Amino acid sequence: MNVTTIGVLALQGDFSEHEAVLGRLGVNTKQVRSPDDLRGLDGLIIPGGESTTFCRLMADFNLFEPLRAFVKTGAPIWGTCAGMIVLARHASDLDFPTLEALDIKILRNAYGRQVDSFEADLQVPALGAEPFHAVFIRAPVVAGTGPGVEVLATVRHEPGQRVAPVALRQGHLMATSFHPELTNDPRFHSYFVDLVTSSGKTSGSK
Ligand code: GLN
Repeated sequence: MNVTTIGVLALQGDFSEHEAVLGRLGVNTKQVRSPDDLRGLDGLIIPGGESTTFCRLMADFNLFEPLRAFVKTGAPIWGTCAGMIVLARHASDLDFPTLEALDIKILRNAYGRQVDSFEADLQVPALGAEPFHAVFIRAPVVAGTGPGVEVLATVRHEPGQRVAPVALRQGHLMATSFHPELTNDPRFHSYFVDLVTSSGKTSGSK
């Protein structure tokens, strides 16, 4: 019997917090720092941190093309905050190419300079009736989504501001502009683990 293993890109940022939640859910994790580390993974999380640093380190560690190839395998990938930027088709104000995987347009650091961080209780029907308490830290704004992208949750950050998607899914790809790994609610991680286990079954890759 094969054990499900989820990789966490461990170049920078809060990868250990993701590993801790997955560990609590009984899922095997692996830190990814080299192309070899991607081998045999059933899914991957790209954590929060700083997207410019991620993109630079992905190039320095020769991970950029292997990550693009990993996207094409159809294995589930979840980007949180900076990880969402790295996955996006287009991100403003970023001097590096993204993985151009998830069909969304991102405005970096666009929730306003004065309030870099905020928290909100989100309605997320896919996770049940209980609201999800979300922590946003210099979060990216999703300014546009392609036709294949399902919006799992939205937020209106300030009165008068337009409602923006903050949790999205496109087939095997998932992104949240907030940090579920920093709160005690594992439902987004469980949702992702379900995506990983069901995609393994349907693709017959395990
Ligand atoms: N502001 C960061 C960026 O643009 C993202 C912040 C985060 O991941 N918490 O990359």
